[in-house]
Amino acid sequence: MDCIFCKIMKGEIPSYKIYEDEHVFAMLDIAADVEGHTLVLPKKHVLDMNEADEQTFAQVMNATKRISAHYISLGYDGINVLTNCKASAGQEVMHWHVHIFPRRNGDEAKIKVLHPDKQFNLEELTKKLRID
Ligand code: AMP
Ligand code: ZN
Repeated sequence: MDCIFCKIMKGEIPSYKIYEDEHVFAMLDIAADVEGHTLVLPKKHVLDMNEADEQTFAQVMNATKRISAHYISLGYDGINVLTNCKASAGQEVMHWHVHIFPRRNGDEAKIKVLHPDKQFNLEELTKKLRID
């Protein structure tokens, strides 16, 4: 399969590995845009979070929590966790991955505000979005 993350996990492309177990692999993001920006991915090739079965979801999220707690223990002050599902949401690599951004008090990193000038109607949205 022509998937860059599957190739990395097979050792065909080098990576900066942070963690690995039977089901999960984590490495530094090559963007190197935030100190410690990490990607956590399932070894099983799934397209995105919504395509993951319950077990795969739990394996990736438990590893995400473990790595986040490890980073806090190393002295980072906070963590952002993000996953993009589908191209419209900015997903570029179509093998599910969770981004971890370690943060420091007063760092200049900004997690993008999507529509700073919009105010959606929350009553209408509740009717449209809620699960009954
Ligand atoms: P996303 O936009 O959520 O699909 O994020 C894909 C991420 O994968 C981006 O932040 C890229 O910098 C990162 N990426 C792409 N190729 C590699 C690679 N070979 N090793 C590590 N990270 C990569
Ligand atoms: Zn893959």
